[in-house]
Amino acid sequence: MTAENAIPLGEQLSEKELCPDELLAEQEAAFARDIERMQQRANEFIEVVCPACGSYTYQPAFEKFGFSFRACGDCETLYMSPRPSPAVMADYYTHSENYAYWAKYIFPASEASRREKIHKPWLERVLGFCDRYAVPRGTLLEIGPGFGTFAAVATASQAFNRVIVVEANPDMAAACRDRGVEVIEQRVEDVKGEDLGGVNVIVSFEVIEHLFEPREFVTQCAHLLPLGGLLILSCPNGQGFDIAMLGAKALAVDAEHVNLFNPQSLSQLLENCGLEVLEATTPGRLDAEFVREAALKGDIDLSGDPFLQRVLVDDWESLGWPFQQFLAHHNLSSHLWVAARRR
Ligand SMILES: [Zn+2]
Repeated sequence: MTAENAIPLGEQLSEKELCPDELLAEQEAAFARDIERMQQRANEFIEVVCPACGSYTYQPAFEKFGFSFRACGDCETLYMSPRPSPAVMADYYTHSENYAYWAKYIFPASEASRREKIHKPWLERVLGFCDRYAVPRGTLLEIGPGFGTFAAVATASQAFNRVIVVEANPDMAAACRDRGVEVIEQRVEDVKGEDLGGVNVIVSFEVIEHLFEPREFVTQCAHLLPLGGLLILSCPNGQGFDIAMLGAKALAVDAEHVNLFNPQSLSQLLENCGLEVLEATTPGRLDAEFVREAALKGDIDLSGDPFLQRVLVDDWESLGWPFQQFLAHHNLSSHLWVAARRR
């Protein structure tokens, strides 16, 4: 779990390759309408304890879009409370204008770039875990595949004997099938081990931060794995550089991300659910750019911080990427990966 075995980051990446600027304004407007609809049901929001460790102690962290975030007094997980009930969340994702806009415009405009820059490196990383921990490349299960880009890359690579996704949303399930991916169109909590015929590796990228009950999700993943089977999760790191610097202004702090774990707290949650954590790393590539953009837009003021002014603004071309690599290699980036195996 040290920097030395940190997985290669892949090449330098910019957010502009993932979401073209000219599409952002419409997407932000759609997202704002979604949030307003969700806030109209604020009387159905539910107060929760820390989703990682169950602690009742907390400090208020920040407010954003009318939602309140807390910092756990024990494990420092940032979490939304009160938070939309499971029913409100389900309704939100079903009727989201933001997701519809993504599906129609942003995704088609950026899928090729995402495939090369994100999903192929992710597959390499997953295969690295299999090699390091001698896990057979039998069946790979992805939970919450979205439009199926990663699963399609994994399927086409033939690195596993079989690739399956579990996706309950009919539009996303159809998108996965269109990409040649085998789909089980169910909610993960309804899936039974025998439906899958044995799974060696479960991956779930950028899902757990959205869930009302992350502990139930991890428990279900553990149930679906044999002894020694791998669970690989990615999500934002609530202690990462961009969230630490920008607080509520960080992109990762939003209406959907109700759980912002950190390397220790997510590891603890997995350990408590019958898993042995093998590696917790932060192979992020965008923190420095996000903070730089915030400084250039005047959202934060670096005038009292000549060091960051130099790294992120004045000497960005030469220092930006090495600085990002430093963050990633020391568990200081806001993009977290945890790999664990079933005990
Ligand atoms: Zn906690």
